Amino acid sequence: MVFELPAFDSHEQVVYVSDDETGLRGIIAVHDTTLGPGLGGTRMRSYDSEEAALEDVLKLSSAMTAKAAAADLDLGGGKAVIIGDPDDKDAALMRAYGRAIDQLNGRYITSVDVNTDVADMDTITSETSYVTGTSDGLGDPSPITAQGVLYGIRACVEQVTGRDTLSDTHVAIQGLGKVGTNVADSLLEHGASVSVTDIHDSHLETFRDEPDATIVEPEDIYDVECDVFAPCAFGGAINDETIPRLNCDIVAGAANNILADESRHAQTLYEEGILYAPDYVLNAGGLITVATEYFGGTREEAFAEAQQIEARVHRLIEHADEEGCTVLESAQQYVENRLSTASEQPTAALSGH
Ligand code: NAD
Repeated sequence: MVFELPAFDSHEQVVYVSDDETGLRGIIAVHDTTLGPGLGGTRMRSYDSEEAALEDVLKLSSAMTAKAAAADLDLGGGKAVIIGDPDDKDAALMRAYGRAIDQLNGRYITSVDVNTDVADMDTITSETSYVTGTSDGLGDPSPITAQGVLYGIRACVEQVTGRDTLSDTHVAIQGLGKVGTNVADSLLEHGASVSVTDIHDSHLETFRDEPDATIVEPEDIYDVECDVFAPCAFGGAINDETIPRLNCDIVAGAANNILADESRHAQTLYEEGILYAPDYVLNAGGLITVATEYFGGTREEAFAEAQQIEARVHRLIEHADEEGCTVLESAQQYVENRLSTASEQPTAALSGH
């Protein structure tokens, strides 16, 4: 049954974990360890069904393989879900979960995700070393994610306009959370102008007196005439309803799963003449931060690594232009090449003897 699911996607390992004493029920999915151990966060949710939890974790885990490979990290794809009300979460449950991770002997490394936090990672540390995103680590990854998104936007703008500066660029930003606010601030520092929106008025406050910022209603952000539309709030912002409303040359943002139907909507944007920079390439700064922490690096090193996103986006766009394909396809090819080259290496070494 599990093997037949479309989301199964040739996962190497799917492990159900449980502990009656603490009520732990979870699923750890290890998609692909060709490039290294699967690193991905643990999210906690009251799923409607066990099937819904399985589908979620499988999709998230596959996505981590692509994100890590595209970011040139020596890491694979993995993700985990704990099924249950986050309000019921306690240290005993997280410790039981940490012991379950430890049994995988490093094939899966966990970190924070929706409804898990730094304190949970600290608790897990008491049971296993296969954890990152702890309180003595590199801190909030959001500013580093935002820098990566900024570099990605800059590469897109240069490719489309030939300008190597962001002044005279107008960016519409959906969502002023931990990442969106940093993206907006950095864009303003670089001389760009922004239109911003958020469903929480308090998040808009700092932009009210900013001459180069225009505040718009959440529902109006899609219609803003701009160079770049940057979704930084939620997945699925680009869909059949919103694409006809877009008034931009570029879609490039931080949100995961920006496209409601990834391949189809990438193709639609391409046909509309709108450049779409894959979200998992732009927002890899978060993964880069927790990976750098895991391998003992510094925050400065994580920032420097996130800077590579600019050159990476240039290369992917140029390759897409050569091939006459979408940048998403260009990124997918890159990921497949990295995986197939790495999986061929042991054979090549053997044949050399
Ligand atoms: P966040 O929760 O801090 O911010 C999201 C913001 O979007 C909030 O301010 C929220 O009020 C706003 N929002 C929600 N619905 C909205 C709507 N309909 N219209 C306008 N605004 C709306 O989250 P974040 O950490 O800033 O992450 C933003 C996105 O980037 C998410 O999709 C996240 O998965 C992704 N991402 C984040 C990181 C990271 O390092 N934080 C890394 C990779 C990807």
